[in-house]
Amino acid sequence: MASVEQHVEEEILQAPSRASATNGGIPVENPATGEIVATVPDLGAEAVAEMAARGRAAQPEWEAYGFDGRARVLVRAQKWLMDNAERVVETIVSETGKTYEDAQLAEIGYAGNAFGFWAKMGAEYLADERVKSSQVLVKGKKLLLRYRPLGLIGVIGPWNYPLTNSFGDCIPALMAGNSVILKPSEITPLTSLLLAEGLRECGLPENVLQIATGRGETGAALVEHVDMIMFTGSTKTGRKVAEEAAKRLIPASLELGGKDPMLVLSDADLERAANFATYYSMQNAGQTCISIERVYVEEPVYDEFVAKVSEKVRALRVGKPEGYGSVDVGAITFPPQLETIKDHVADAVQKGARVLAGGKEVPGAGRFFEPTVIVDVDHTMKCMTEETFGPTLPIMKVHDADEAVRLANNSHYGLGASVFSKDTARGEAIARRLDAGAANVNDAMINYTVLELPMGGAKASGLGSRHGAGGIRKYCSQQAIVVTKLAMKKEPFMYPYKSRTSRMLAGLFKFMYGRGKRA
Ligand code: NDP
Repeated sequence: MASVEQHVEEEILQAPSRASATNGGIPVENPATGEIVATVPDLGAEAVAEMAARGRAAQPEWEAYGFDGRARVLVRAQKWLMDNAERVVETIVSETGKTYEDAQLAEIGYAGNAFGFWAKMGAEYLADERVKSSQVLVKGKKLLLRYRPLGLIGVIGPWNYPLTNSFGDCIPALMAGNSVILKPSEITPLTSLLLAEGLRECGLPENVLQIATGRGETGAALVEHVDMIMFTGSTKTGRKVAEEAAKRLIPASLELGGKDPMLVLSDADLERAANFATYYSMQNAGQTCISIERVYVEEPVYDEFVAKVSEKVRALRVGKPEGYGSVDVGAITFPPQLETIKDHVADAVQKGARVLAGGKEVPGAGRFFEPTVIVDVDHTMKCMTEETFGPTLPIMKVHDADEAVRLANNSHYGLGASVFSKDTARGEAIARRLDAGAANVNDAMINYTVLELPMGGAKASGLGSRHGAGGIRKYCSQQAIVVTKLAMKKEPFMYPYKSRTSRMLAGLFKFMYGRGKRA
């Protein structure tokens, strides 16, 4: 881990404002071993204010790079990420305890794609739009919708995907021409520091991207200084961030918790459904906002589905990642999360559920929980209604698809969902009935990789979205521009008011709007 410590030391030395860190710093633990791998500064409100001033000063030059100039830096960063992929994977694994595969596929794979996507699509999504209008008074005028960067963006990230979820949101914000301050989770700050170093090497001007390491207070201080806040994390903290943003009248985009349902219909390909249920509930040890958190299975195929899933889950290897292929399920990154997982399993068992696989914390060094399958569950249990965020899969038998839809929608969350049926038209019809920001048919989570599609939550799962055109336009303000070319000395409706002109206008309005026809 010396390399991780070394680059963090460098980061601490390079940043002048680190002198205003509030105390001895934050130790970063490897959750798979319990070792402290680095210590990062715990920056206070004063340091955040200084960073904000530097970020604002740096922004105009970055905006002046234009789309091409900014895209060139992002494409270099894409190459840098691929050249340094193993170093980044090691850093992610060291602070999250996730498997090498989870770091590679869902973090390196995502960010590699994202750098290229935003470099290419940023200019298209933010290009001036020529607008047409049926409004008679603007005939012949040039009408434009223009996007301009907001200025200084704050990104507050969680610990489950330090590259994808924390750093990933900085990429479109930068491409739009903003300066960015990223506050990574105090649990996993090292990946963000390493990526910031990489972007500097790729020619990103100084202070355009800054990393504010710290705890919750650092995040709260950041909201006080930025022009827009992008937050990913819990619904509870997301509400606080939204309240503070509202007080300052700045926009907030929030990606919050989820309790994603999977619906297995009786005509589903059960082998595929069982593989997807197993993988997308256990991948990243279940610590994914859009992991499958609960399954509803139609009665005729319930027993077979449960048998298949239980067998597959029992075969998973859990433990300290020692390299590619060493384990299937890694550590529980966030210490309190282990207590939540144990509580949800105990609550279910106490209310009559049966554990068919796993069910216990793994003893020894590091923080692990056995991949777990729970049946005989219902909505009185926390495992079916609250975000567990762990390697657990509760499966519930339902009479029919209508009951599955009703139960799936019986949640205050609405992030993702999936439906399995060989009849794809029926699957799609059911997907359309689900209260979720994304619904996959015969798939799960895949929508997140489609950067052209918006990714956001319904209900308590969030506000706004990342990805797609909206995923970069949210970092901009809109400006309407009207240009009058052929200009008379004055318009006919101007002073002095004359009854003849007013009668003409009344006739014109009646003609245009009074005929009960569409314009
Ligand atoms: P939080 O929502 O508390 O933390 C997310 C980020 O917000 C972190 O960087 C955190 O800093 C920061 N933060 C904390 N308090 C404030 C504040 N008042 N103002 C601004 N920023 C703040 O999530 P947790 O890490 O505590 O996890 C809690 C639960 O959230 C998990 O158990 C899980 O259920 C869910 N979760 C959902 C995620 C998702 O992808 N939607 C991701 C992670 C968790 P710091 O970490 O330093 O405290």
